[in-house]
Amino acid sequence: MTKKRILSGMRPTGKLHIGHLVGALDNWIKLQDDYESYHLIADYHVLTTRLETKNIYNDSIEMLIDWLACGLDPIKSPMFRQSQIKEHTELHLIFSMLITVNRLERNPTVKDQIRDLHIEHVIYGHLGYPVLQAADILLYKGGAVPVGEDQVPHVEISREIARKFNNQYGVVFPEPEPLLTKFARLQGLDGNAKMSKSLNNTILLSDEPAIIKAKIKKAVTDPNKIRKGDPGDPDICLIFSYHKKFISAEVLEINAACRSGALGCVDCKMKCASKISELLNPIIEKRHYYEQKLNEVTDILLDGEKRARNTAQVTMNEVREKMKLG
Ligand code: SF4
Repeated sequence: MTKKRILSGMRPTGKLHIGHLVGALDNWIKLQDDYESYHLIADYHVLTTRLETKNIYNDSIEMLIDWLACGLDPIKSPMFRQSQIKEHTELHLIFSMLITVNRLERNPTVKDQIRDLHIEHVIYGHLGYPVLQAADILLYKGGAVPVGEDQVPHVEISREIARKFNNQYGVVFPEPEPLLTKFARLQGLDGNAKMSKSLNNTILLSDEPAIIKAKIKKAVTDPNKIRKGDPGDPDICLIFSYHKKFISAEVLEINAACRSGALGCVDCKMKCASKISELLNPIIEKRHYYEQKLNEVTDILLDGEKRARNTAQVTMNEVREKMKLG
């Protein structure tokens, strides 16, 4: 039986953090055996919020190294830069004729981004980036897209565009389904709902144990638990939320010891830091390997781009044929 194809991608922002691991990569790694996966380095999407591109190549390579270090397999799954497959822009143009401005303005995810990033003047490319995303997915005939809940409205837009194209010109595209990830979000070290490099509240996948300890030391906890002996409330503690994600085996004891006051925040934080370091250790080792073998990394990228281009060209030939543009 042929495997269903999925498309997943990230904007290249350089080295990744543990939020990327629990929110996306763990899931991608599990899915790569059951699906035919395509992994997109979404370098055009960066332009929607940042025009500066001088580091974009290096940022893409750093992200690719993290993908590989975490266990994504380049033999199973092509990894490629969006900008190197020209068919993305061509399909995006065609798709932009199939959706109204009103529909894009109603998209709650873009509305939230505009509010959160305090964007005063929205550029055309930002409003339309779900259309580019539809092209990213449908160019590879992705039948499913692993996403967090905030991205579900975008998958719905892809489905609408696929339907509209198929009705207008004849069936080419599947209607992709969202594949929701279990842990879509990890809080930042400052307690912010989102871990993000722009908020400077991350633990990077490449952080060595001493750096992780130093970062965790400064993280917020239950503000009412001042010293060991004070009863704490794990339900409002960021560190406890990390424990739940990373050391589920001891989570009940930590919960009880925090509430009784038997466990102090300093010890609790160090336990958390050690566990995260232990988890990241094999990733860091693999990262060091790839840092020494940059030629290998570049070859993986070029091979992924060749394979992605082949698939994209087949789809675009079909599109042009259906549209009588051949
Ligand atoms: S003991 Fe641990 S779980 Fe309890 S408040 Fe302190 S850091 Fe949080």
